[in-house]
Order: sequence, then structure tokens, then C-alpha cells
Amino acid sequence: MNLLDVKNLFVEYKTSSPTSGEKTVYAVSDLSLCVKKGEVYSIAGESGCGKSTFIKAVLRLIPSKSGEINFEGNDILKMDKKALKDFRCKAQMIFQNPYASLNPKMTVFDTLKEPLEINFKGLKKEDYISKVKEIAKSVGLKDEDLKKYPHEFSGGQRQRIAIARALILKPALVFADEPVSALDVSIQGQIINLLNDLKSSLGLTFVFISHDLNVIRYISDRVGIMYLGEMVEEGLVEDIFSNAKHPYTQALLSANPNSETEKIILQGELPSPLNPPAGCKFHTRCSFAKEICKTQKPKTTYFSDDHYAKCHLFT
Ligand code: SF4
Repeated sequence: MNLLDVKNLFVEYKTSSPTSGEKTVYAVSDLSLCVKKGEVYSIAGESGCGKSTFIKAVLRLIPSKSGEINFEGNDILKMDKKALKDFRCKAQMIFQNPYASLNPKMTVFDTLKEPLEINFKGLKKEDYISKVKEIAKSVGLKDEDLKKYPHEFSGGQRQRIAIARALILKPALVFADEPVSALDVSIQGQIINLLNDLKSSLGLTFVFISHDLNVIRYISDRVGIMYLGEMVEEGLVEDIFSNAKHPYTQALLSANPNSETEKIILQGELPSPLNPPAGCKFHTRCSFAKEICKTQKPKTTYFSDDHYAKCHLFT
């Protein structure tokens, strides 16, 4: 069953400067994806490809231009204030930087109690305490940690607090935006294992964003590859890592230090979303580009029920 079903989503916004005037940023273009209940769906792509913008659009933190974002069958873009509040209770976010995402003036107990106070007014004091202790324990925090402030913890411990805060409302869907990239390498594995354990024990569904392909390979069920606001390939994690079809996916995977395939050096930088190339947006950097790639968007080719790519090489 699909928990999240995004159809033909476009996110565009205006920027302006004294020299170039007002311009449109084409941040997400015609993006469709489904996230099944209980899976980890990861999105990979270079910085600036629109991954984080996509999450903000799903949470309605920024407006979308058009499309549908269905959560449990209801379109988030059409929700009124009350329905949106209920949705945000069920969809929580783990941010990249635990240093910035925690209030330095609040103890861990108050940090974890706050979402309960906002969403479940009228709970008894002992209920707050037991729920806070329960979630703190599940992320590896001790009772005595609840009296402390964020500055008394290491980066990894702070991310455990941030994870506990995201999970205390028992969300159905968790967005994790580069949740380990700000941490020491030695700690990253612990946090990824924790997220994996919590996924099983609490039956969570994740939308996971990372530029670290090893992390994505370890934690994901399915992976979508995003380039300049568009999904160019999607598949089960083993299909993407062992049988990638799209030239961009192949280049991305070859850049992974653990890759045994020959490195594919991409030409040039990621183009600006202010002025994306026509046709296949990847044509300015693709060594397989043909004339048709410069003018026509490639159609979707399915290689199996779960694996597709958008590239003229297959049409
Ligand atoms: Fe390369 Fe053309 Fe395929 Fe785009 S459509 S990835 S430019 S071959």
C-alpha cells in the first residue's frame, strides 16, 4: 500500500536581483513517486538537484505550482489548516544538523515533551513523563540525560535527541534529510543502525536523503535518482547498484570511492535551475547525448515493474 503518492509535482519560485531582475527557479519538475508503507525510499543526486526542496514541498513548508501529493489517500495540497496540522503530526522530519535543530535553552525532557504538549493537550503529567522516557530509551538515552542541555552532548547524542523528538508523536512517515552528514564518520554507522532498528521496531516508513551512496545502499529498499529537479531513474536498491541504466546514475555510482567500475567523469557543473537545458536536462554533460536529447524529453522505459529510467537510449 502506498503511504505517499506524488504525481507530476512542479515546484517553482521567483528570485530577483538588481542586475538580472526577476527570474523563475525550476526547482522540481514533473516529479512522480510512491512510497510504500514500511519501506525506506531514498533519493540520491548532487547538491542542488532539488531533493530538499521536494521534502519541503511535501510538508507544505513551501508552495507547489501544480501536481498532487497524496498521503493516506488525501491530497496534501488541498488540505485545510486542521487537516494539515494532523498530517504534520503523522509526518516528521530529522534534520541534517542536530546542533542547529535543538533549542540550546531547553533540557532534553522539555525538548521531547514540547511536541506532546502542542498536539496532545490535557495529557496527565505522568503520561508526559512515561512517553518521554520511553522514546528516550528507544534511541539509547538514559533517564539522567533528560535533565541535561544539548551542549552537554556529543554530535551523535544530539542527533539521537533529534530523532527522539521526531518519533515521539509516533509518525507514520519520517523524512530524514542527510541525517548523518554533519556527524563524525565514527558515529555515522551508529546512527544509521539506530534508524534501521527503529524502522523495524516501530514500523516506520522513511523518505531518506543522502549524498552518501554507501549509506543509501545499506538502508534503502528503493532508490530514486534525481537530476535538476527530475527523477531520471528509480528501482529496487539492488537494481540501481548492480544494473543502473541511466548514464547519470552510472556516473554517480562510479564516483563512489567503493565502486569497482571505471570512473565516469562528468563534463561541467550541474546547470542552474534558473535556466535548465531543454530536452533531456542531462544532455550538456552526457557523453551519449544525441541530437534528439537536446530538444525532446525522454520517455519512461520500464525494465521491470519496479525499475525505470528516462533516457533516449532505450526508446
Ligand atoms: Fe544522455 Fe540523451 Fe539519455 Fe539524456 S536522454 S541521459 S542526454 S543519452
